[in-house]
Amino acid sequence: MSVSAVDVIRTKRDGGELSDADIVWMLQAYVAGEVASEQMSALLMAVVWRGLSPRELSAWTGAMVASGERMDLSGTGRPVVDKHSSGGVGDKVSLVVAPLVAALGVAVPKLSGRGLGHTGGTLDKLESIPGWRGELTRAQFLAQLREVGAVIGSAGEDLAPADKQLYALRDVTATVESIPLIASSIMSKKIAGGADAVLLDVKVGAGAFMRELGPARELARTMVRLGADAGVRTVCLLTAMAAPLGRAVGNALEVAEAVDVLRGGGPADLREVCLAVAAVMLALAGAPQDPAAALDDRRALAVWERMVTAQGGDPAAPLPVAARTEVLEASRSGFVAAVDALAVGTAAWRLGAGRHRKEDAVHPAAGVVLGAGLGERVEVGQPLAVLHAASPDRLAEGRAALDGAWTITDGAADPPPLVLERVG
Ligand code: URA
Repeated sequence: MSVSAVDVIRTKRDGGELSDADIVWMLQAYVAGEVASEQMSALLMAVVWRGLSPRELSAWTGAMVASGERMDLSGTGRPVVDKHSSGGVGDKVSLVVAPLVAALGVAVPKLSGRGLGHTGGTLDKLESIPGWRGELTRAQFLAQLREVGAVIGSAGEDLAPADKQLYALRDVTATVESIPLIASSIMSKKIAGGADAVLLDVKVGAGAFMRELGPARELARTMVRLGADAGVRTVCLLTAMAAPLGRAVGNALEVAEAVDVLRGGGPADLREVCLAVAAVMLALAGAPQDPAAALDDRRALAVWERMVTAQGGDPAAPLPVAARTEVLEASRSGFVAAVDALAVGTAAWRLGAGRHRKEDAVHPAAGVVLGAGLGERVEVGQPLAVLHAASPDRLAEGRAALDGAWTITDGAADPPPLVLERVG
C-alpha cells in the first residue's frame, strides 16, 4: 500500500480522521527511519491540536505496542498485576505495594525508569541500596517474578520502542502535553509489559504532571479505555499531589521511609495511599482482601528483603548518609495548612536527588525530610524540614527553592482527601 506522509499530516491538520492503515504505516515507517522526524513532528503537533478519536487512538497505541515485543508472563503461576504512577514528589508507593501485593499471592512485574526534573524515579531510589541493580536480563526478570513474586527492573529497549523515539521527539517539539499522546505512551508500555491487569496511580496537584482534576480524569478515562481495547483490565486512582507524599523526598531517604511502612509504621498519608493502591491491585487480580495485616505482621517486609537480595542488594546494609544537613525552622507557630510539593521536589532536585540531563548522576543521600505533615501543629523554631546535601552550595540552592513553600495558619483544618477518585 502506498501512503503519503504528507497526506496523513494534512488530513489530521484539517481535522479529518486517519484510517487504521494510515496510522500503522506512519508509525512503522517512522521507527524504520522512512518518515522524517520533521514529518512526525508535524503530525504530533496536528494531534495536539486536533486530538485522536477513540478508534484512532486505539490503532495508534496498538501500533506502538507492535513496534516491539510483548512480554509473555503466562508461566508466572499466579495472577499478574502491574502498577504505574504518573509521578509525584515523595512517591515511593511502588516500593511498598510491589512486595505487599506479592505477599498476598499476586505477582507484580514492574518496569521502572529514572527521574528527570523534580519527580524522582523508582530505579534511582532503589539504587541507593548498596549492591542493588535494576538491569536484569529477561530470564532473570521472569525467574524472580516466579520465585519472589515481585520484581522492579529497568525498562529495556525491546518494549514499545516507538514510544522511546516518539517521546524524545515530543520532548523537543512541545508536543508532550496531549492527552491522547500521553495515554498512548503510558499504555503502550503497560500493554507490552504483559500483565493481566494494571493499576494506574494518576497524581493530581501542584507537584504532578496533571495539575487539575478535570484533565487528570480525562487522561484516566482514556487510559482505562485503551486497556479495555487491549484486553488488559485497567483501573486508575486519582490521588492528591498538592503536598509531598510522606515526609521524605530523595532517594535513600525515601527507601528508608518505605521500609518504615513495610514494618507497619511510617507516615499515615503514605500508608493510606499504599493500602488503597494495593487493595485495588488485589481486587483486579481476583483476590480481594484488606492488605493492612501484611504490613503489620511484616509479611510484606519479608518479600521486600527477598526482592532486594535477589537483585544484589543488602537489605540490612546502612543507606548512604549526606555529608551536610541543615534544619529549616518555622518562623511562626500554627498549623501546617499546605506544603508546596513542587517547591519541595525542586529543592530535593537541587540538593542533588535529581538530574538535569539523562546522563547526570544523582546523590543517593540528598533530599528533604519534612518535620510536620499537613494539619499538624508547629511552634516557632521547630523544624519544618531537614535538608540533606553533599555540599554547602547545594544546601543554599535547596533552601532557596523552599522559600514560601509552607502555609501556616492559626486555625486547624483537616488535611484534604488523598484518594480523590477511582476511574474504571
Ligand atoms: N509518562 C509517559 O510515559 N509518557 C508521557 O507521554 C507522559 C508521561
